Amino acid sequence: MSYTTKLNVPGHGELAVPTGLFINNEWVAPSGGETFSCVNPATGEKLADVAHASKEDVDKAVKAARHAFKTVWGTKVAATVRQTALLKYADLIERDAEKIAALESLNSGKGIRIARDADIADSVACLRYYAGIADKVFGQTIDSFGEEKFCYTLHQPIGVCGQIIPWNYPSLMFFWKVAPALAAGCTIVMKPSELTPLTAGVFCDLAIEAGFPPGVLNLVQGLGATTGDAISRHLDIDKVAFTGSVATGRRISIAAAESNLKKVTLELGGKSPLLVFDSSDIEEAADWTALGIYFNSGQDCCASSRVYVQESIYEKYLAALKKRAEACAIGLPSDEKTSFGPLISAGQRDKVINYIESGRSEGARVVTGGQKWPQSNGGFFVEPTILADVTPNMKVVQEEIFGPVVVVAPFKDEADALELANNTTFGLAAAVFTNDTRQATRVSAALDAGTVWVNQAALLHAGVPFGGFKQSGIGRELGTYGLEAYTQVKAVHNNLTQTMPWPI
Ligand code: NAD
Repeated sequence: MSYTTKLNVPGHGELAVPTGLFINNEWVAPSGGETFSCVNPATGEKLADVAHASKEDVDKAVKAARHAFKTVWGTKVAATVRQTALLKYADLIERDAEKIAALESLNSGKGIRIARDADIADSVACLRYYAGIADKVFGQTIDSFGEEKFCYTLHQPIGVCGQIIPWNYPSLMFFWKVAPALAAGCTIVMKPSELTPLTAGVFCDLAIEAGFPPGVLNLVQGLGATTGDAISRHLDIDKVAFTGSVATGRRISIAAAESNLKKVTLELGGKSPLLVFDSSDIEEAADWTALGIYFNSGQDCCASSRVYVQESIYEKYLAALKKRAEACAIGLPSDEKTSFGPLISAGQRDKVINYIESGRSEGARVVTGGQKWPQSNGGFFVEPTILADVTPNMKVVQEEIFGPVVVVAPFKDEADALELANNTTFGLAAAVFTNDTRQATRVSAALDAGTVWVNQAALLHAGVPFGGFKQSGIGRELGTYGLEAYTQVKAVHNNLTQTMPWPI
């Protein structure tokens, strides 16, 4: 079979989408000839069969990446070479943004406008940000030894990196991973989610056009337990960077430790609190909460999924949020107006519906939503849902739902709010709404979270670090921290006049 699939992409007619493996800048078939299929979440229909990389294919990709690291990338070229390729890459993604967004929307179910104006635009911005700092990676000069010696540090690329990403932001997660790694000089073996493999193929074709040499960026498509596990256990991968669930992050950590102790960075789940104090503007808080929980149909690791509201404004706030939930533009992903599409799979939809049922049976009040969207047809839509009057030990309060379901409860005072907010094993993000600046500063410092928003929610930026406290992750992505995560420090001692202090 040929590993290009002809797909009818809304607004663009029939497009040829690469569905093979990409090794050494060439499209190749999987060694075992196996495939897996992905579906359109808005209809439930099959979209494409995609090559499934075996352990041997992962090994081929690693060999290509190692060779490229030693010969044409890493410390072999000036940073400006990497910078130029990254800038070209950004321009090409921008040139093809309409087409890429339409494919992203088809495969992931997000509205075309959001795919284009958020996901693809932010991917381009991420590439440009890392291109901009690719030639600003410096070590230190440690010149405190007089005439004896001088020391310095080099910040060198880690080497061959395995990168494993989830389905909720297929393009953005691709670039959050590859942009800093390429800027730092690492070479890559990338595995997208098996649910959303399609845009990654297009990005590999554009990588050739951008001028990345063979072996610098390799793509292995496949399932987690096979292809993903082969990456995590590979003895010649120096680092694995992962975004996904806590359970998988734990498995990857164990596999990395049991193989070659490769370095691991993890971006995991969340159950992020949003606090609304009585000094805040209720309408503004409800606007941001709706974005925080219903953006990407709630399939967002830093979704504002637990809301605590000061008692005196509780019912007024709930009424304001209900209005926003009921105004969400649910619809087909190809419609420009749609902001709220289907969930990624039937399994994810059923999981979310089960959580809603669990909340209901434990005594939560369903303020709005609570069921499959009546016009779903074959798609995996769930209505924007609010569960109010929840208590701390309910399953819907403790566990990540990863769908359009927000749980809401009242609090008495600041101490009570912080106690409720921090009562979780997660620590990815948190938001606080208050018009008291001292309170904002105090509460921001006291929240257990890697990101805190004051009087906003949901927004991230390539230049600002992102990552989790507690079980939400290890390490940081984005910003200069994200570049550092792909470098390692070498200390060089350069003797000038120093004699041996303890002759042997
Ligand atoms: P997942 O953990 O099921 O899968 C993520 C990726 O890991 C996929 O590519 C999958 O194939 C792979 N994988 C699965 N099992 C594996 C294994 N044993 N070894 C190696 N790889 C394996 O997660 P998901 O369902 O795709 O995504 C949802 C989760 O991701 C949620 O928990 C969400 O919070 C989290 N997430 C976190 C962030 C963040 O930045 N912190 C961003 C997006 C999503």
